[in-house]
Amino acid sequence: MKLVLLGPPGAGKGTQAAFIVEKYGIPHISTGDILRAAVKAGTELGKLAESYMSKGELVPDEVVIGVAIERLAQPDCAKGFLLDGFPRTVAQAEALDKELAKLNRPLSAVLSLEVEEAEVVRRLSGRRVCSGCGAIYTAADKALCETCSGQLITRADDQPEAIRRRMQVYREQTEPLVNYYAMKGILKRIPAVGDVKEVFTRIEAALG
Ligand code: ADP
Ligand code: ZN
Repeated sequence: MKLVLLGPPGAGKGTQAAFIVEKYGIPHISTGDILRAAVKAGTELGKLAESYMSKGELVPDEVVIGVAIERLAQPDCAKGFLLDGFPRTVAQAEALDKELAKLNRPLSAVLSLEVEEAEVVRRLSGRRVCSGCGAIYTAADKALCETCSGQLITRADDQPEAIRRRMQVYREQTEPLVNYYAMKGILKRIPAVGDVKEVFTRIEAALG
């Protein structure tokens, strides 16, 4: 199964990604996670990425395309993969198509998580992440992580200004991909409201 998970920030991509990779036994490839790990490690890639990420801007295409293609070349991706947060622009989607065509491994489906803008703004403004283990909390009612007792912090790109910018970037640059994949006949629209398990049931049904 070769899948792409598409949707605005706050649509619940990370949560659904965890369910999908568990059920289908494929690696989860999140360019956001890869870039955040690079920022934490202080590598050249991380330093470059951080200047864009903290403002809610996209990291330049040529950089992210390199990161994603390098990851897709790893042996564990031969049986399939779930791409989460990539592609995010038409240029990235075209680069991905070209690479997968070369490997003779076209995408099986693109899952588009659909949720209204007012709802994603509400979700993102309350989101906290554990500075220790990365666990995500949606309510602001705790100070420490339940698993590792780490501090819960607001991600720099979850600050109100950056949230607005990420939404705008999504609408302008990423939303056109919904049409791009619909034209290719592989788009599955998934209403991403309600219980997370309910959303996953819709994904399972869409994948048959
Ligand atoms: P979100 O929580 O908004 O879904 P991610 O965790 O996927 O975000 O990504 C966080 C940030 O990392 C993005 O706002 C962007 O700056 C950068 N990033 C991740 N993936 C890409 C990509 N495919 N193209 C450009 N920038 C990316
Ligand atoms: Zn933790």
